[in-house]
Amino acid sequence: MSYDSNNIFARILRQEIPCKKIHENNFGLAFHDINPKAPIHALVIPRGAYTSSLDFHEKASTEEITGFYRFVSDVVRLLDLPEKGYRLLSNHGTAAGQEVPHYHVHIFGGKPLGPMLKES
Ligand code: 5GP
Repeated sequence: MSYDSNNIFARILRQEIPCKKIHENNFGLAFHDINPKAPIHALVIPRGAYTSSLDFHEKASTEEITGFYRFVSDVVRLLDLPEKGYRLLSNHGTAAGQEVPHYHVHIFGGKPLGPMLKES
């Protein structure tokens, strides 16, 4: 999948559309999900143009990868989640339900989160 530079998160990074920002640094930007699925539902995105976790893990530099995942943990601490518990999730592709083709990590918390996947 090639990167679409007009995807919604690329536009948020360029400040063309607003977001409820939680934190940012040279490696990433964190903001609240527009349609939260838990009392705390944050999205963390790298600044670079990567379509998903696979793309990021295979193509980003070691510095970007380390910087980004440290940033994810900074956000977890800012949201006061380490003691309470939280879940990280990232979707790749249609079967997983990925809607936005810019790599992002969801952070869920603020209530008991239940089973990892919905029982069918
Ligand atoms: P995905 O399904 O790709 O893993 O998750 C995309 C997430 O982005 C969804 O949870 C959706 O609610 C969120 N989202 C989509 N558009 C926007 C937006 O314009 N602003 C924010 N803050 N979140 C968005």
